[in-house]
Amino acid sequence: ASGHQLLRDPRHNKGLAFSEAERDAHYLRGLLPPAIVSQEHQEKKIMHNLRSYTVPLHRYVAMMDLQERNERLFYKLLIDNVEELLPVVYTPVVGEACQKYGSIYRRPQGLYISLKDKGKVLEVLKNWPERSIQVIVVTDGERILGLGDLGCQGMGIPVGKLSLYTALGGVRPSACLPITIDVGTNNETLLNDEYYIGLRQRRATGEEYHELLQEFMNAVKQNYGEKVLVQFEDFANHNAFDLLAKYSKSHLVFNDDIQGTASVVLAGLLAALRMIGGGLVDQTYLFLGAGEAGTGIAELIALEMSKHTELPVDDCRKKIWLVDSKSRKESLQHFKKPFAHEHEELKTLLEAVQSIKPTVLIGTSGVGKTFTQEVIEAMASFNEKPVIFSLSNPTSHSECTAEEAYTWSKGTAVFASGSPFDPVEYEGKTFVPGQSNNAYVFPGFGLGVVISGAIRVHDDMLLAASEALAEEATQENFDKGLIFPPFTNIRKISASIAAKVAAKAYDLGLASRLPRPDDLVKYAESCMYTPLYRSYR
Ligand code: NAP
Ligand code: MN
Repeated sequence: ASGHQLLRDPRHNKGLAFSEAERDAHYLRGLLPPAIVSQEHQEKKIMHNLRSYTVPLHRYVAMMDLQERNERLFYKLLIDNVEELLPVVYTPVVGEACQKYGSIYRRPQGLYISLKDKGKVLEVLKNWPERSIQVIVVTDGERILGLGDLGCQGMGIPVGKLSLYTALGGVRPSACLPITIDVGTNNETLLNDEYYIGLRQRRATGEEYHELLQEFMNAVKQNYGEKVLVQFEDFANHNAFDLLAKYSKSHLVFNDDIQGTASVVLAGLLAALRMIGGGLVDQTYLFLGAGEAGTGIAELIALEMSKHTELPVDDCRKKIWLVDSKSRKESLQHFKKPFAHEHEELKTLLEAVQSIKPTVLIGTSGVGKTFTQEVIEAMASFNEKPVIFSLSNPTSHSECTAEEAYTWSKGTAVFASGSPFDPVEYEGKTFVPGQSNNAYVFPGFGLGVVISGAIRVHDDMLLAASEALAEEATQENFDKGLIFPPFTNIRKISASIAAKVAAKAYDLGLASRLPRPDDLVKYAESCMYTPLYRSYR
């Protein structure tokens, strides 16, 4: 290959870091200025540039440009500055990027499959340059973050999620495939946006929708085999549960909005119980919001409780109460039915709290300011240490702020949130709120699945991930009220999660990479992609 091509190949380009010998060997002389710099020096320069941008979207675009120009440098930045850059390549900035995706669009990332490709999906997959794919993240763009239907412009999500699979979980970038399935959009603003990049039609539903998804899932299995992980991301809940249930029988599928969320939040609960004492079975749970997150979390809590008590899962579900937006005279969506209770109708959350007296209150409604002072004071009145999770995103949708949780509970709450909050001073003590970020679990979970060659996801593998993450919180964290470990160690955490998930896959007979490695933590670490430059001789 020519030197010119090498400089334009993001997977191999090193820019000014090419050595004299490499410049000679690869026809690079004259194509680069004379200076030779280290990867660390390149990193320092780009971080400096990024920090000088005041508009968050400009940071996003700069990061995407870097990924397109020099992949290893992109991942080095992301790994070394994870706390600073996670919000840029993922939520919240990626949300704004998706909303404006058509305007900032320069080069395609990921694979687009639209209604126009019906009957040809396998051919579309074959156009992707990489053959050995380990993880696919796919969206249909209908429920992007908390932003709703962004149609084809949801592509930012699979791209961003997969960059975290690599940076945090060590899955090779070449083994990651972002996909957007475009079946139209019901977003009028986008349909009328002259720069919109998707199909200009309303969403296909029913048979037309399910036929395209079936063709896609068939093509995936035919092209990549049984061991490719397909992560469904940001589908609306009227499709998400059904797709997961349908394809979990025939494919290796995972839904991060349902299962990933559940696993992270269960980990937070297990850590909270390590901090305050008692078991899962000793708690009473009340959820505000019974969608993908709420029912997913509730189901996994019931499952873990049942494992540790011999109680049937159904009895465990009885300890969990979910409140949604509707009056019970309407019929229940099927994913809510297992949690229906016989109880007189409760009109408000406060009434529900007073009547059910939960020890754990979890917000997954997407509606901000719903954990009012009365609600939190009630929680604190009958619990020594109420567990309160405000999981709705973005920050403005959080059920309450960290400061509200700590002050209204007089410093007794064990609090975590979906969006990050700064530490809070209350009566001379500093409380550090944990962020129940899905990025704690899915990269390590995916790595565990990949390294064991698992062919199906089993709920016990999710429980294994929760238990692994819960163990990572230390006494030092607990002393500050923190139930999740800091993100700085995330690659080590991911390796521990991967090892536990892989071990469970082997125990269940679902792993196909044989023989089973003796030390799964070491093995997981040895499999992880590192972004350091290699020398080309
Ligand atoms: P979803 O499937 O749309 O579910 C939302 C649920 O909230 C529905 O059950 C809905 O009721 C209910 N609801 C809406 N307004 C309500 C109100 N005023 N009072 C009571 N219930 C109300 O959405 P999702 O995917 O579960 O996400 C929900 C929230 O969780 C989002 O804000 C998301 O950002 C957050 N989340 C956080 C994490 C995390 O912390 N790691 C992970 C995932 C999601 P109906 O069923 O009656 O419509
Ligand atoms: Mn999501």
